[in-house]
Amino acid sequence: MSWDSQARPPGQPGAGMMTGQRSGGPMQGHSGFAGPPMQGAPPSMPHQNMVGPPMQAGPPAAGHAAMPGQPGGPAGMQGHPGAGQGQHQQPPNMMPPSSPAGPRPMQGQMAGPPGAGSMAGPGAGRMAGPGAGQMAGPGAGQMAGPGAGQMAGPGAGQMGQMAGPRPGSAPSQQPPGGPMQSQPGFAGPPMQGVPPSMPHQNMAGPPMHAGPPAAGHAAMQGQPGGPNSAQGHPSMGPGPGQQQPPNMMPPSSHAGPPPMQGHPGAGQMAGPPGVGPGAGHMAGPPPMGGAVQMAGPGAGQMAGPGAGQMAGPGAGQMAGPGAGQMAGPGAGQMAGPGAGQMAGPGAGPAAPQQRISPESTPHPLAVWQADSDLYTGKTFYTNTPSMVPPLPMTSCHIVDQGNCSSRFMRSTLYNVPVAQEILHNCNIPLGLSIQPFAKVPQRENTIYVVNNGDTGPVRCRRCKGYINPHVSFVDGGRKFVCNLCNFANEVPDHYQCQLDQHGRRLDASERPELSYGSVEFLATTDYCKESKWPEPPAYIFLIEVTYQSVSSGLLNLLSRMLRLIFDELPKDTGEQKSKVRIGLATFDNTVHFYNLKASLAQPQMMVVADVNDVFLPLLDGFLVDVEESSSLIEAVLQELPNMYRETRETTSCLGPAVQAGLEALKAAGCAGKLFVFSSSMPKGDMPGMLKNREDRALFRTDKEKNLYAPQNPFYPDLGANCVKQGACIEMFNCSTASFVDIATMSSMVSATGGEIHLYPYFNIQTDGERLVKDLAHSVGRQTGFDAVMRVRCSSGLRATDFWGNLHMNNTTDVLLAGVDCDKAISVEVKYDDKLGEEGAQAYYQVALLYTSVGGQRRLRLHNLAVSCTKQLAEVYRCADMDTIMNMFLKKAVRKLQDTPYKSIRGHLLEQSIALLACYRKECSEPASGARLILPEALKLLPLYVCSLIKCEAVCAQSDSRIDDKAWLMHQVTCMPVTASVPYLYPTVMPVHTARPDDKGLPAPIRCYYEALQQEGIYLLENGFVLILWLGRFTHPAWVKDVFGVHSLAEIDTEKFGKLQVFDNPTSTRLRAIVAQLLARRSHCMKMVVVLQGSQKEALLRRHLCEDGGGEGTPSYMDLLCHIHKEIRNALA
Ligand SMILES: [Zn+2]
Repeated sequence: MSWDSQARPPGQPGAGMMTGQRSGGPMQGHSGFAGPPMQGAPPSMPHQNMVGPPMQAGPPAAGHAAMPGQPGGPAGMQGHPGAGQGQHQQPPNMMPPSSPAGPRPMQGQMAGPPGAGSMAGPGAGRMAGPGAGQMAGPGAGQMAGPGAGQMAGPGAGQMGQMAGPRPGSAPSQQPPGGPMQSQPGFAGPPMQGVPPSMPHQNMAGPPMHAGPPAAGHAAMQGQPGGPNSAQGHPSMGPGPGQQQPPNMMPPSSHAGPPPMQGHPGAGQMAGPPGVGPGAGHMAGPPPMGGAVQMAGPGAGQMAGPGAGQMAGPGAGQMAGPGAGQMAGPGAGQMAGPGAGQMAGPGAGPAAPQQRISPESTPHPLAVWQADSDLYTGKTFYTNTPSMVPPLPMTSCHIVDQGNCSSRFMRSTLYNVPVAQEILHNCNIPLGLSIQPFAKVPQRENTIYVVNNGDTGPVRCRRCKGYINPHVSFVDGGRKFVCNLCNFANEVPDHYQCQLDQHGRRLDASERPELSYGSVEFLATTDYCKESKWPEPPAYIFLIEVTYQSVSSGLLNLLSRMLRLIFDELPKDTGEQKSKVRIGLATFDNTVHFYNLKASLAQPQMMVVADVNDVFLPLLDGFLVDVEESSSLIEAVLQELPNMYRETRETTSCLGPAVQAGLEALKAAGCAGKLFVFSSSMPKGDMPGMLKNREDRALFRTDKEKNLYAPQNPFYPDLGANCVKQGACIEMFNCSTASFVDIATMSSMVSATGGEIHLYPYFNIQTDGERLVKDLAHSVGRQTGFDAVMRVRCSSGLRATDFWGNLHMNNTTDVLLAGVDCDKAISVEVKYDDKLGEEGAQAYYQVALLYTSVGGQRRLRLHNLAVSCTKQLAEVYRCADMDTIMNMFLKKAVRKLQDTPYKSIRGHLLEQSIALLACYRKECSEPASGARLILPEALKLLPLYVCSLIKCEAVCAQSDSRIDDKAWLMHQVTCMPVTASVPYLYPTVMPVHTARPDDKGLPAPIRCYYEALQQEGIYLLENGFVLILWLGRFTHPAWVKDVFGVHSLAEIDTEKFGKLQVFDNPTSTRLRAIVAQLLARRSHCMKMVVVLQGSQKEALLRRHLCEDGGGEGTPSYMDLLCHIHKEIRNALA
């Protein structure tokens, strides 16, 4: 398939309006970039160099220029309901075509590096193949080879990103290990021979066999060297020491950027590689930016990864050549810090040759940066056909033009296959991630609330779908054709309106439900239980008052803080004060209710002693208005610590306490939340009693699943009963014990749409503040109650499977006792039948009926239309990597409940390989098997799969606590895409280089150990944990500024809870960074300090997802090689 065909969204001629091209996206967007500009480019144009090798390459993709993606005329607007609205009227081409946006494609071509192919086990064999020609000859050649290869790779990568910015710009700003894009220098090394007009795409193509670079993919090639490289390398003989010690090279990282720069050799390949020279160069100032990088990384990388893989045959090869060069430079450069480490390697003979440089492999930082370059400060219009919306974390203004914002719903595919067979072939799951109450930036209009009075929303008679912007009005406006089932309905008299010449209702722009993808209706009593308007929800606080709770300080803390937290109670838009009433109860081996009726002189306590038959001892006075009963609430809270100070009771009747809360809501006839504060596992002879069944030996065995099943039916049953009443449970688990059976608790809490907050080995000093923040967030967040969600799809599609904190009694109605702004529900969609023809649309409509915190019954609708296609390449082109991984993650976690980990891992790998092999076979250019060609939009799949199979929620670590594992599984199940992205690729950012006057967060770096410098300090966070890692050569002044002690050894990492306040710029800046990190997550993460080389470092390492795991899980590089090999096998 030609580039053209891939590029042009079929059937979307009018697509002109699409401006915002997203990188993974269609190449066409870049076209402008690619094609044209180059031609005029002066020969010296930097990027061409990268291209180097490929020369033979086929015709560069130049032609695509003509993309439809171009900012088209306003025409595109037509048909867009929203168009009419003033504010929506945007200039179609928000995106300057020439903008840096272009990058994505480039990246795609990564080509070079990954020696994946070659590297792969049998390095030897493969090398041979492709590399052969070039490599041949002198050992030198080989060295070169690799270098070249790498160059290419990275270069390519860079290019992509560089896009806008001309290469050639200063190489220096590059964060170590950072994203390629910043490394402009790359361009540098001039490849001789390259015709000036060569489009950089070539780079992509791995040099060698250049074929015409495929449009949307990222091709990695294991191949070493480009031709040019080969030349001139005299010194490298295949060294003796080919067998390289595995981690001989502390890669680049240590070396850090600086060293790299000195490296000419690399860059130039051409140049002088040998040790001798290398050294020399190092010294000097390095001209080549690009070179620089290569060098370093090349070396380094090879090393790390190489270890395992290279081993066999490959080893030999790599070694030889690499040796010379790497060594030399490494040695020289590393000098300082790296010294220690480098030493080994450098000294040793070999450096690998065809190692894939980690720098050159596809990674999220480059993808995120490209997306950010494309959208930051811009607008994305949701009706843009065949376009993956901006990435979840990209800051962008999203305008609803009839499709809901991607903040509310994302699809795994934005071009849906017309038939099941196509989907089946490509192995991509079809599904949605729905976050019905997602928070949106203020300037993105809030959802309109439509009040149709007694009539309610207009619905389709056949499928019961709701009126939306995608229905079509016919017969002069007297009928509307349902977009979901194609049934022609009569328009009710009260809703009729004339049509304009385009068939659009004259009042369309005045009716939000006909203009916006997301809208709310006020429901009629037909949508209420027993046809009665609901009461506003109530929040009941159930606090454990056992000895454990008192001694840990939990009771004291809550007594002090609850009154303030009540100020956070939520209200509907426009309300002056919250209508949510509160109730207070405590429990040990009995349950105690408090009468807070405003007219009482003082609060009264009533005890329910018979926990086998819980009843509510008071009807009036339990649920109260916070303001009206303020003095009584304060009196109770103040008295609680005194009342239980001397308690010796250690038995908790958590189950009956929850039952009591549920009874209270039933009695009040309202929905609500039960905030349960627990300090121990319920024991003793009473309902809901649990046994300690902690047995880590079951991890990763066939019996592991037993750990995640509830111990008894009490809790799942109680959860189901809560759902009937709309009672949502938020549990705060603050036990100091190692096991409280979160898995069993989760079976109850998840069913209610609630959440468990877990503070392992609860410590009031380090966890108290976090608990209060999490509680304030939970109390205040927007939540819908007593909700039913229904997902309707176009005829031919059906929502079949659901993930989330939810409960279902049939196959279609998703019951959510509560659903808040941080929760997502994932839906898998399957085929019943064929969809329309090429270019037709497929529709999804999510309808959520709920009770608002103000007690209004409302219906929230989110509509989404995506294009249908017969072309496999189009399916791949518009795949949403992040949403797919979100779904893979949830599927893996659910399967743990009945399938051994190993099977899950095997299945996921198989599916990924099948997915990529199908692309390779059906969508990419025929090319040498040495190239690993990845679909552009899914080029991060190997990396994310690598991370998924070893993330803590899926893969139990031998030292994991069962509760922590069960808790992560609970969290993952309801995770929105905005949370699964950092969970699968943690943010790692250097803080030692952060300047006091900087604002914002430091640029993140890649997620592998070798990217950390020993004199550096880094923060890593994934939404659940925040780690501050201090390199062993951390400057003492920094330690003094931040910790107030004189050396690393004096830092008490065990007792560390949070950063102390010191009045100096370093401390201030670091605390500001941490505050910013915390602000973007829904949990107040625990902060941990880890010193390099300490035992605790294992905690950090397990989050470095590009490295191999301690449990035998592969590194990213290993996995790339494995996948490449398997794809080749599959195609053979
Ligand atoms: Zn219908």
